[in-house]
Amino acid sequence: MESPANLLITVDAGHGGWDNGAQFEARLEKDDNLRLALAVEKALRAQGVEVLMTRDTDVFVPLADRARMANEADADLFISLHRNSFPEQTEGTQGVENFIYLTAPLETSGRAAQLVLSEIDEVGVQRMIGVSRGNYAVLRRTTMPAMLLEMGFINNEEDNRLFDEKLEQYAQAIARGALMYFGLNYRTPSEPLPSGAPVVENEIYDVQELMEQRYGFGLRPTGRFDAATKKAAVIALQIELNGAYDAQITVDGILGPRTLNAIRPFGLGSKGGLVALLQVLLILNGYDPGEVDGVFGPRTAAALRFFQRDHYLNPDGLAGRQTFTALLAG
Ligand SMILES: [Zn+2]
Repeated sequence: MESPANLLITVDAGHGGWDNGAQFEARLEKDDNLRLALAVEKALRAQGVEVLMTRDTDVFVPLADRARMANEADADLFISLHRNSFPEQTEGTQGVENFIYLTAPLETSGRAAQLVLSEIDEVGVQRMIGVSRGNYAVLRRTTMPAMLLEMGFINNEEDNRLFDEKLEQYAQAIARGALMYFGLNYRTPSEPLPSGAPVVENEIYDVQELMEQRYGFGLRPTGRFDAATKKAAVIALQIELNGAYDAQITVDGILGPRTLNAIRPFGLGSKGGLVALLQVLLILNGYDPGEVDGVFGPRTAAALRFFQRDHYLNPDGLAGRQTFTALLAG
């Protein structure tokens, strides 16, 4: 699995200096772009990601220089931040749009742009326009996956209200989407448990700690197979499937058809991350596969057969789609 420490992400605040970008009353696009860029920088750095800012003050930087900076630093991703605008006579244009270059591959720039938009959508927008293609210089000249994000319309009052109110959340969403693109999970600061929820130190607690060590979800061990643990387990499954089969599943913690279809049944004698995850899931469900060692031995096979029998599945000792569905249903 990639480490955030190996990543370099370029954050490009559009316009600057004498170039105001779009304007609405006293509001200048260059200032909004910089505010958001600084917040994204902070969010990424908090995850341990290295960030290259094309500007972090109100200065003019030529487009070619912005791209060159990213190319020379061999950045892994380029995120250009802008505000959209519409001519006075057109009304009702609103929302968030993310551009990739005309010929940019969908599996790199397209996927990164979509992941960022999905995370922004979770925060809430007036309208989600989606991923579009555009002939922007910074997209054309950069050699890594790149996006140009139009974070709402500067001449739409509601878009501006959302931009101001949710700036931090949008910045975190952009950082989260970027990390997801690299198969990494965004670590949320661990939230305190609701009062009256005791931490139970048991086998489930231990495997939650194990998952946290292996994947770094920010998962807080509770000793219970709760909703957060289920989601973390699905994310782990997606990461393992991507690693084992290059399945290219979006790591979103949702057990959808793409994730299920990527599962290839495995059994006695198998080894690796998927086996370890199967062992973790058996323990979470109250079965005993022995050590979580990533080796599918007789004890894991026996525990799996017991689980399958109890869940009205064919007890063939093979971990396939139906078995994983049942294991993740809890
Ligand atoms: Zn702009």
